[in-house]
Amino acid sequence: MNALTLSVTKEYDCDVLVVGGGVTGIASAICAARQGASVILCETGGFLGGTATKGLVGPFMTCYDHAGENRIIRGFFAELVDRLIAEGGAISYEDCPGCDSYSGYRLTGHIGVTPFSVEIFKRVAEEMCLEAGVRLIYHTRLIACDTEDNVIKKAYFAAVPGIEAVTAKVFIDATGSATLAYHAGAETFRGDEEGFVQTASLFFQIRGVDREVLDAYMEKNLEPRKRFFMDEIVEARKVGKFPCGTYKFRIFEGLNGIWTVNMAQEDDQVNELDSEALSMAEIRQRKQIPELMAFLKETIPGCENIELLTSASDLGVRESRRIVGKIMLMGEDLQKSSYKEEQIAVCANSMDVHTSTGVSYLTHTGNNYYIPLGSLISKNIKNLMAAGKNVSADKFAFSAIRVMTPCFAMGQAAGITAALAAKADGDVAKVNVKDVQQLILENGGYLEC
Ligand SMILES: Cc1cc2nc3c(=O)[nH]c(=O)nc-3n(C[C@H](O)[C@H](O)[C@H](O)COP(=O)(O)OP(=O)(O)OC[C@H]3O[C@@H](n4cnc5c(N)ncnc54)[C@H](O)[C@@H]3O)c2cc1C
Repeated sequence: MNALTLSVTKEYDCDVLVVGGGVTGIASAICAARQGASVILCETGGFLGGTATKGLVGPFMTCYDHAGENRIIRGFFAELVDRLIAEGGAISYEDCPGCDSYSGYRLTGHIGVTPFSVEIFKRVAEEMCLEAGVRLIYHTRLIACDTEDNVIKKAYFAAVPGIEAVTAKVFIDATGSATLAYHAGAETFRGDEEGFVQTASLFFQIRGVDREVLDAYMEKNLEPRKRFFMDEIVEARKVGKFPCGTYKFRIFEGLNGIWTVNMAQEDDQVNELDSEALSMAEIRQRKQIPELMAFLKETIPGCENIELLTSASDLGVRESRRIVGKIMLMGEDLQKSSYKEEQIAVCANSMDVHTSTGVSYLTHTGNNYYIPLGSLISKNIKNLMAAGKNVSADKFAFSAIRVMTPCFAMGQAAGITAALAAKADGDVAKVNVKDVQQLILENGGYLEC
């Protein structure tokens, strides 16, 4: 890749550069800095959290195993939740038994979710980064890299005053769209063999739900379709009351009387890497909100007096470009609990592929499974890691590990590995997985080895 011919207005240098400040980037940056690395985190927006804040997505999905008995995502995630609770910014997973308003009235896979306040999360995440010594640089969008002999030398950002550049020993892609990997010349892919990616959805927040009334309604209607209001949508369509593209949606109670609506699905595939297509999807979905509000008010008991607070500033993109890693984690690996030796995270979330018309493929593995370190390491670029939504996984494995709790765990492992590599020659594949596992455990993480 060639350097930009534009002039660079400012240069930075660090051991580990994290690009993207979503949940994955936050965990990566803090955990790398705690291992002694000098860390810079560059983020396009003006705050942290990514999909969790800009996208208004929540709650943090379950941190328990399939049976809802053993807490398997701990470490940095548990520490963050404790900080949030101390500031009145989260309800503990221990107080969310599932099947209630906090879990969208679902039980399987929803025992022990963590509702959180978007505002408090933004601030606490910043405080934790600064305490760890992470340099936060907002309003910087990665646009190019210099790569020589399969080693990234420099990353270039469109910044407020012009082009800025960062030199680092190790690079972590936490962009959610493998943008750093792509510009570095790493192998990446988007979609399955037919180009399919999961549907994207715009969230919005409301208040004024009468929880007792809604609870009573949901208690009578707890079969899955009702939890998604699908039958009500079919009936409303028959009388021309619900023309918009959404086939199902559900609502989650958050903190302080704020509820989140997980809404609007696209009839057609959105190319989230095309700015105009992304913008049009956001405009189409925002247009659906008044229709959804009217539907809720007229149809769902307990929602008669709701008010709209805000829609997400960014469309929630479930799936985008990912890296080709040393290991491509497959759906069958989850079912067989493969890669126990190389594990850096233990998860149990179900495989859950969203299409515009609902869930096309949903399976509960019924067992814990492992994310191997090799799925966070680029196949061809020596000093590049990618975690969270960028992980090397097929569509089925990805659909299970894309939720925020595994993203936190992957971020923790990526940060630790990057810091260890930065102390040596920067080649992340040379880091011994046993050393990473030991540090994960020493830092409160959960592994089965
Ligand atoms: C509609 C929807 C519903 C979901 N529901 C749930 C749920 O209920 N519970 C749950 O736990 N998970 C849920 N998820 C999944 C979860 O929210 C995401 O997978 C997770 O938040 C991804 O985190 P991330 O940090 O990997 O990526 P992101 O959140 O996408 O963060 C990437 C960050 O990188 C920044 N960035 C991107 N490009 C650049 C660039 N070029 N330069 C600099 N910065 C850049 C972005 O601004 C962003 O802040 C849902 C997701 C969606 C879309």
